[in-house]
Amino acid sequence: MKPASDPGRLIIVSAPSGGGKTTLCRALRQRMPDLGYSVSFTTRPARPGEQDGVDYHFIDLDDFEKGIAEKRWAEWAVVHGNLYGTSADFLRQALVAGQDVLLDIDVQGTRQLLAHFPDSLTIFIEPPSMKVLAQRLAGRGTDDPQTVARRLRDAEQEMAQRELYRHRIINGRIEATIETLVALVEKERATGRKEG
Ligand code: 5GP
Repeated sequence: MKPASDPGRLIIVSAPSGGGKTTLCRALRQRMPDLGYSVSFTTRPARPGEQDGVDYHFIDLDDFEKGIAEKRWAEWAVVHGNLYGTSADFLRQALVAGQDVLLDIDVQGTRQLLAHFPDSLTIFIEPPSMKVLAQRLAGRGTDDPQTVARRLRDAEQEMAQRELYRHRIINGRIEATIETLVALVEKERATGRKEG
């Protein structure tokens, strides 16, 4: 396939879980329907209400490991004890077609993609405090206490690496965060390519 003269760009959003990232990415996609969205592959079981092929592609460990051997993932990582990966084919096709692609991935995945796509737009969504994050995680009610504890520990590690990101947004009130995020991505999509 011949590359487009103006290839697409990656827009990577990361946040500790419970940080409201799913809501934010959904809002961003609604406001920018031309954005591509990379549906990740994972070995994590689906949560109630999650749809295969929409929220994630839910696959088993054998299939995921086969994907590693076949170099099917543009990046992959173990997050909270499960494997997650981004389809290399999907990214390649969207980018050569000139489409910007939104990814909701963790810090490890961001690091891997930045090695290949250094001009990616990277945004880290921070909770106002670890205490607020703990309350949000427990209040969500989708995970058992052990899982919540693990996610909090992982969040501390992710927060420690937030300097990797070009932009950081503190997620206090979700409505305000959505506006900040949309404005930032709009501005970057208009000018970001030249600024690199
Ligand atoms: P959850 O299981 O709560 O949906 O996601 C857990 C974490 O995995 C989140 O931080 C999310 O951003 C991250 N994640 C989701 N998909 C991918 C992926 O394809 N690659 C990587 N590296 N992380 C991912």
